[in-house]
Amino acid sequence: MTAREKGKIAAGLKAAIVRAGKALGRALYPEDITCDVCGAELPAETRYSLCAACTAKLPLIKGHRCLNCGVPINDEADYCLRCQRTESVFRRNIAPLRYDGEGKQLVHMFKFGGKKYLAHLLGAMMADEFISSGEAGEIIVPVPMSESEESRRGFNQSALLAADIGERLGIPVLPALVKVKDTPAQKGLTGKERAENLRGCFSARFADHIRGRRILLVDDVFTTGSTANECARTLLKAKVRSVTVLTAAVTVSENKVEVSAPAERD
Ligand SMILES: [Zn+2]
Ligand SMILES: [Zn+2]
Repeated sequence: MTAREKGKIAAGLKAAIVRAGKALGRALYPEDITCDVCGAELPAETRYSLCAACTAKLPLIKGHRCLNCGVPINDEADYCLRCQRTESVFRRNIAPLRYDGEGKQLVHMFKFGGKKYLAHLLGAMMADEFISSGEAGEIIVPVPMSESEESRRGFNQSALLAADIGERLGIPVLPALVKVKDTPAQKGLTGKERAENLRGCFSARFADHIRGRRILLVDDVFTTGSTANECARTLLKAKVRSVTVLTAAVTVSENKVEVSAPAERD
């Protein structure tokens, strides 16, 4: 072996050791020590990779909330106006954040801003909220995207959240739903129009694994509940025992839209 060859091998070995060291570092210190939102250095061990100032700005949901969608409600009602008008086949939705202000910004950074690492922060909040809800889940199923939707975005945000939550909670994640039909953008549609749009666009698989099980359906945002409901309907048809929904955020504005909309048009 020539000295040059020896040198090459040594250099290759060194690079491999550096790579292994970096991987080990990531395994030992998986979370950054800076705030995920503003980049400020974090003092010590914090629950979330978020500084106090950014935490204070987040619209975390506390106190009395809708028994169906989890949105905070001011009065003593059991259900918000959105949920008083719709029927859901899932047990309930659990969400740590309101989808407005900094909460909306955070989800946007994750979905559209190329900050996939925010799945860890959102996943941590969602896992905590799920634990305090007292609900049960035996299999986590992410809300799927169609093939073309996913190739356009490059990733499925719900699948990233599901993977993180599954790891935290020790619950297996199974892509038991597939989206077999593309749907036009749901934005600007009423709940009823969304529901019609989504009819039959999901299909269940791994029937033997999900039958009789309590499913935790994971999505990024709960808006009208149409997506969650159609997914739950598909899963229940495949004989799962129950479906509970877990989202990062739940919208509040839809309430106003639904209230000001004319009653039923048919
Ligand atoms: Zn911050
Ligand atoms: Zn509600």
